[in-house]
Amino acid sequence: MLIGLTGTPGTGKTSASELVKAYCGYRVIHLNKLIREKHLYSGVDEVRDTLVADMDKVSAHVSGLIGESDAVTILDSHLSHYIADIVIVLRASPGVLGERLSHRDYSQAKISENVEAEALDVILVESVEWCEKVFEIDTTDVTVEKVATDVREIINALLHGDDGAMLLKYKPGSLDWSEDVF
Ligand code: ADP
Ligand code: MN
Repeated sequence: MLIGLTGTPGTGKTSASELVKAYCGYRVIHLNKLIREKHLYSGVDEVRDTLVADMDKVSAHVSGLIGESDAVTILDSHLSHYIADIVIVLRASPGVLGERLSHRDYSQAKISENVEAEALDVILVESVEWCEKVFEIDTTDVTVEKVATDVREIINALLHGDDGAMLLKYKPGSLDWSEDVF
């Protein structure tokens, strides 16, 4: 079972996926690293200071890694909702996201672009459009441990086929950042 862990950069995907791996032993594919190392990109976006992923290559590579296995694999990337049918979208309020990203060597323009994308629910909207099952976790005021526990709960419910009522609290659409100052 392939689970995409998606969300705007800074929402905590890599941190949470590492902890879920430590808790449950699930395989985690850090897609951004893979794209860089295996040259799964078509070019470099100089303005955004980022690689332009070749999604056909990325999908094919991930399929090759998974093979016939139906073991749980977590795909850590803001692009994972283009590949996985089941995704968990991590969220953070724009103010908190901006603060987290200020510790990265991002330009102010890149920070603002990400903060605005989060405020506009861009990745959530794309996920709902592309994926079969979408869950959402707000990481704003909770520890990485709590986020990892929530991810584990979602995966457990999916594995047991009781992801209906049980996972209502992860149903997307309850967050509203419109009052957030950023
Ligand atoms: P992503 O992989 O989504 O870009 P990271 O896991 O790299 O995000 O986390 C970005 C930053 O935010 C890191 O400094 C990390 O320590 C911090 N962080 C991640 N999750 C949380 C959380 N739940 N609460 C507070 N800080 C967090
Ligand atoms: Mn990351």
